[in-house]
Order: sequence, then C-alpha cells, then structure tokens
Amino acid sequence: MIVVLKPNTRPDAVETLVSQLEEKGFKIHISRGEEAMVLGLVGDTSRLTEESFLANDFVERVMRVSSSYKLASRAFHPDNTIIRCGNAVIGREANNARLAVIAGPCSVESREQLITVANAVKAAGAQILRGGAFKPRTSPYSFQGMGAEGIKLLLAAKEATGLPIVTELMSINQIDLFDGVDIIQIGARNMQNYDLLKEVGMAGKPVLLKRGLSSTVKEFLMSVEYLMAAGSRDVILCERGIRTFDSYTRNTLDISVVPWLQKETHLPVIIDPSHACGMSWMVPTLAKAAVAVGADGIMVEVHNNPPAALCDGEQSLTPDVFADLMRQLDRYAALEGRKLLSA
Ligand code: PEP
Ligand code: MN
Repeated sequence: MIVVLKPNTRPDAVETLVSQLEEKGFKIHISRGEEAMVLGLVGDTSRLTEESFLANDFVERVMRVSSSYKLASRAFHPDNTIIRCGNAVIGREANNARLAVIAGPCSVESREQLITVANAVKAAGAQILRGGAFKPRTSPYSFQGMGAEGIKLLLAAKEATGLPIVTELMSINQIDLFDGVDIIQIGARNMQNYDLLKEVGMAGKPVLLKRGLSSTVKEFLMSVEYLMAAGSRDVILCERGIRTFDSYTRNTLDISVVPWLQKETHLPVIIDPSHACGMSWMVPTLAKAAVAVGADGIMVEVHNNPPAALCDGEQSLTPDVFADLMRQLDRYAALEGRKLLSA
C-alpha cells in the first residue's frame, strides 16, 4: 500500500503516522521525492482501509500495490535511485546525462594484468573497474579465480587508479574479504540463491545483481526484492543475456527488458554486452544498442591479451578496441542527449 502525502506536510505529522503504523507491525519505506513524499507500507495491509488514511488532511491519496515486488517498484519510490560510489554515479539524474561504464577483465589473473587493464580502462573513460576473484565456472576443472589474492589485487588496482571496484561474491563466507569492495556483484548463477541475497542485503553496500540465465523478469525483480527486504537500497540491475532456443550467440540479449524495468522500478539498469553475445566483435554493436535503448550503463570485459585470458577471452575487448568504443559510444550517446566521457 502506498500513501502519498501532500506537499509541505509537517514532519511531526509524518512522524506520528509512521510510528502508529510501525506499532501495528508495518515496515514503512519513506521516499522523499521532488514532487511528493510517499510512504510505502510492507505487511498485511488488507486490514487497513483507504478511508482511515484519507481522514488525515495531509494525505493526498492512497493506492494498493498489487505487484509482489514492492520496495523495488517505482510506485513505492517514484524518483530514480542514484547510486554514488567514488566518483562514479549510476542512475539517471536530471542534471547528469552520463552513462556509467564498468570495465575490466573477466577474472583477475595477476597484478600486472589487472593494473595494466585498470589503467587502460580508466584512461579510456570507464568509471568503475570490474574483475572476478571468485569465479562461478561451469566446469570444476576450469580456472576458479584467484580468490582472496584476487581481492587484494583489486584493492591494489583501486588504490593505484582511484576507480571503485565491483567483484562477484559467491558465498557469504567470503564477505569479510569484501570490506574495501565498493559494489558486490551477485552473478547470474546465484540470482536465486535466496539465503545469499538475504545476507548480502544486510551488507550495507551497493549490489550489482545479474539476471539469471533462464530467469523471467518477475523472478529477477523478486530477487531484487529479497535484497531490498533485507536492507539494500542501492541495487543495480544487470541484463546479461538469457538462454533461449537459439545458441548462435552465447545468450540472447533481452533489449526490451531495459525500458520495462525502468518503468517498473526506480533502480538503475545496465547491460553487459560481453556475456550477452560471447564474441568480442559483436560487443561494440550491442553496447550501442544499450545506449540506444536508454540503459543507465554498461559493463564490458576488457583484457590486455584476450587470447591468453584464463576466462572469457573470446568476448574480451583489447584496451585499444575499448578506447575506440568509448569514443564512438560517446558520440552515439550525444544523439540521446547523454554522454560517456567527462567534459
Ligand atoms: C561475470 O561477470 O564475469 C560473470 C560470471 O557473469 P554472469 O554471472 O553474468 O555469467
Ligand atoms: Mn566473464
């Protein structure tokens, strides 16, 4: 249930209403927007009547939310959620047309590899560095990531470049290693690991949640809701391709999910063109599609020597191709009144 308050409602009136509702066992999510203040009620609202709220002269209107995702819904939080980490901004603000660009290797492989790629993607204009330390591989015999050592190298790259870092957490047992990590990635394979989502939701950090390999949008949003119900405010939704009947690309990029999610939720939506197609030559084209469809950002895999990469080399861009893509995309974004590069 959503209660929209009239502009200029006195703070003490809001406080009284909120504490009355909390006493009745409801969780209240307050969204102070540009135009109105919205109270989102979570709990069994069937016993509440619209009239009881409208009896307060500061209540503008009351609506019942039928969707099962509430905290993630735009109805609960009409304004876009803007996520800030370091100098990066993820989410669309009226006065900021910049798309967020996350780039880096699939996996952290060595200090030299990571620092080289980190410097290159920074120079090309990326605002956030990615790199997997714990890798969810389809085969147990494939490189599983450098683990704790990989996190140390990411922290060193953060120190060296000033870029915030995003890396995947696969098990809650790893959380102590994530202190210096700016954004926790939950990978496609763990999108429905609800116990993990509940724990990560309590970590107090932004979360980048990738859509599951075969997840419906509803399931995706319910996973977001798990994070938010546990305490997360800043969740980035990442479309990385889904499995369909066709396998000519690694996955099928679901472009139309972007406007749909942006309409339905207040959270930033980004596209990962690398995992979507699995082929480096196609990544720039899909990145352009991400800009055209209005995504809030992109996440791209970049490797200093793709043929030698220990994971996902075939879909990784070289630093030169990435830098060229950033310049092209910036011009492309300008057509949409947006940009990728600073000034
Ligand atoms: C990754 O980002 O390297 C990754 C493993 O992605 P996904 O979970 O989308 O497969
Ligand atoms: Mn990868």
